[in-house]
Amino acid sequence: MRVLIVDDDRFTLRLLTRQLTQLGVDGVLACESASAALTLIDGQIDSVDVLFCDLNMPGMDGVEFLRHLSRHGYRGGLVLISGEDVRVLDSVRRLASARQLQVLGTLRKPVALESIRALLQPAAAGAARAEPEFRKRYEAAELRQGVRQGQLVNHYQPKVAFSDARVVGVETLVRWAHAQDGLVFPDQFIAAAESGGVIEELTDAVLHVALRDTRSWNESGLDLRCAINVSMDNLVALDFPDRVAGAAARAGVPIAQLVLEVTESQLMHDTLSLLDIVSRLRLKRIGLSIDDFGTGFSSLAQLRDIPFDELKLDRSFVRGAGENAELLAILRANLGMARQLGLRSVAEGVETAGDWACLRDLGCDVAQGYFIARPMPADRLPEWMAEWEARRTHLVNRS
Ligand SMILES: [Mg+2]
Repeated sequence: MRVLIVDDDRFTLRLLTRQLTQLGVDGVLACESASAALTLIDGQIDSVDVLFCDLNMPGMDGVEFLRHLSRHGYRGGLVLISGEDVRVLDSVRRLASARQLQVLGTLRKPVALESIRALLQPAAAGAARAEPEFRKRYEAAELRQGVRQGQLVNHYQPKVAFSDARVVGVETLVRWAHAQDGLVFPDQFIAAAESGGVIEELTDAVLHVALRDTRSWNESGLDLRCAINVSMDNLVALDFPDRVAGAAARAGVPIAQLVLEVTESQLMHDTLSLLDIVSRLRLKRIGLSIDDFGTGFSSLAQLRDIPFDELKLDRSFVRGAGENAELLAILRANLGMARQLGLRSVAEGVETAGDWACLRDLGCDVAQGYFIARPMPADRLPEWMAEWEARRTHLVNRS
């Protein structure tokens, strides 16, 4: 394994070199500046397996250095070191990931031998040199054709009450069973659907199948609220509430079983028709949930203007919240606000027992995430519910 350390502080360079040698790394290179490092690896960037990079350096700082690494297509592992506070380290870490750099972890000075060992384990196993993921984007025309040929598939992810761990509903997550490319995820085609005028047709198709599945769960005695995702772009047609109500009636599903999770996608709207539409949806007893709350445009202004009855905390605030004081503060504030506004709160991205305990203790109402279940096809749900019942008892008794 070849490791390159970039740090302007000679003491840290020597210490890290010694620690890495102690851990059995034989090829350790050290540079006192980012520009020296760039010269050193010019043309042979692939020969470095792991790069330790200090963020605070005179001349080119760590952030600028990362930008160059990303431009050169560096694919090895990256360890960020800093004396700065954790929030700076965290934000640079996010920046690096967004630039497709493989961040193994962050270290605070003074660096402890054990933390280095823990970070290097996956790298030594060869996990660091990951191929950059290729995510194809689709055009609206191809999508429209797919929708018309019935290639959309609904998967459902359970939502569970924190109080007694009972399943209270599901969120519908659409997939596209593409003839050549296999199962395609919404982040690869929703933008095209919105900009290319396919979103209405797509939403109708998803709603239609979701209602049919809800009906069959009802018939087998499962009482689940079914949520579907709609974008603000759906809420421009004044007849939207009637179309939804009509579809529910035809499917024989009580309309109050339906929840629309609304994501904001753009800034400008015809406010009057939006208010017309959302008010009528609520008058019809259709649930309205503000999705991805706290990110993008899903904001306080919308809570003020739109009669939501559910607030979904974005997963980026939920995952690992127990170990992060900033996230805890944000969650506590948002959950308090939800309570005072009489909104049901749903935490997305509950992935571990720790996330579950943390959000439950904060008084969140409903959980959704891999800790409970991944999205699944409709016919798998009854079987999963039976399995969950066993886990549920355990989960409730333990707490
Ligand atoms: Mg959603």
